[in-house]
Amino acid sequence: MGVDDVILTGNKAKEAFQQLQSSVNGQLSLSMDDKGKVTATQVEGSTLSKGASELLAATSDSSVTVNVSATDNDITSGGEGPLLGFFGGNKSDNPSIESSLPGAPDQKIVANQEVNADALGKLSNINGNPGQAMLHEVTEAYRGAVITQADGNSGVRSTANNDDGGNPTSVYRRAHDGAVSQGGNISEHFYNAQGQEVYRGSSNFQPVQLIYTTGNNTPFHTVPKQR
Ligand SMILES: [Zn+2]
Repeated sequence: MGVDDVILTGNKAKEAFQQLQSSVNGQLSLSMDDKGKVTATQVEGSTLSKGASELLAATSDSSVTVNVSATDNDITSGGEGPLLGFFGGNKSDNPSIESSLPGAPDQKIVANQEVNADALGKLSNINGNPGQAMLHEVTEAYRGAVITQADGNSGVRSTANNDDGGNPTSVYRRAHDGAVSQGGNISEHFYNAQGQEVYRGSSNFQPVQLIYTTGNNTPFHTVPKQR
């Protein structure tokens, strides 16, 4: 099994890779092998941004594997909700082994993240920071794994459910808040079958379409996807 890895899989792995490279241009030179494993090399004489240095750490940290599923799926694989970027949490690859025992193999923390590469690519382009939203997602997953290690917890850590989002001490929120920013604001707009905007919590909230906007109300993603 590979360690010290950032691994991009899914039907949009190549797009995700290109976005990552855009986000660190002039700082890191990235390559990706046929298994989706990303390798990073610092560009000579460059000064690394926070995000670039965290990406470099993620690709060279032998105790963490970051798996990123990059697709154009409308919904997260677990059905939690519409997919832009999703923190799938992290866990030890062998939680049954007490790592302090003599001779026990080292435990690796495996983090899982899901991204809609089409949506994140548009979000970043509209905001004039190509690839930054992808960099946020990949380094957020890595940060989450490092937080789990620091907490000394070898078990499964929670995913980004609503409770976690509202709890500033959750692994998700600490990882999200500490990572390089997504690079743009995100607003949700729901529409009913008649094309009228409807709002969460109202009695007529029966949306059939969700449009995400950024910046000055510029649409960048529609669920379900446009055919
Ligand atoms: Zn985040």
